[in-house]
Amino acid sequence: MTAARRRVRAPKHPLEVPPQPAPPALRQSETTVPSRSARQPRVDRLTAPVEDYLKTIYEIERAGSAAATNDIAQRLEIAPASVSGMVRRLADDGLLAYEKYRGVRLTPTGRRAALRTIRRHRVIEAYLVHALGFAWDGVHEEAERLEHAASDVLIDRMAMAIGEPVTDPHGAPIPTREGTVDETPLRTLADAAVGERVRLVRVNDEDPGLLRYLSSLGLHPDVVVRVRGRAPYDGPITLDVAGKRRQVGAALAVGLQVEAVKT
Ligand SMILES: [Zn+2]
Repeated sequence: MTAARRRVRAPKHPLEVPPQPAPPALRQSETTVPSRSARQPRVDRLTAPVEDYLKTIYEIERAGSAAATNDIAQRLEIAPASVSGMVRRLADDGLLAYEKYRGVRLTPTGRRAALRTIRRHRVIEAYLVHALGFAWDGVHEEAERLEHAASDVLIDRMAMAIGEPVTDPHGAPIPTREGTVDETPLRTLADAAVGERVRLVRVNDEDPGLLRYLSSLGLHPDVVVRVRGRAPYDGPITLDVAGKRRQVGAALAVGLQVEAVKT
């Protein structure tokens, strides 16, 4: 089964605010004092640090909670005090909303901006692998830099050139250019039952060493494996992968998202 068939479910989060066409330029004499809404940043003019904040908060929310300052600080490797200042600014700009005692969540505008950066990241990764022959462990760092520089037109052309893939090389869904994506959390290999056949859907993309290790075990998105055994007390899980017996540790299995294969 192809990745395309897996992603036919209706998107969970339709785009709340459609992209607006650029307004005609004002002549000097027509310039007025900006209203509150006019001061809000356009999502296509955000700085790289702002885009990284929004992307990080999106990831924390995806894991199921509002984003607390400490979580953001930890992920971005920035002091919590600096994070508080930036978070306040982004809330003033209408990109984040505070949730009492819990942290912040993206507003629809903030979410649109986050998904736009994530689309760029994942299209760039897919393009580097499919058009330029990069290995899957060599694209994340490139995409981290290029995601802030590439225009939407360039990203759309790159996606078109490689046949509009629905997932990136690590199995993460690529948001559409309209800003929708289905990131329903999947089960992990750690939860699969002994005897069950599962398809590997998605792996974390951030650790090149881990990706090379998975490659050495034959573990890539779309590969079907059978769980042969599981040692007690979080011990290793034994798998059949393409006719070979393999073992993965419990900690690694938690990072491998899978779906059941109907037999
Ligand atoms: Zn990546």
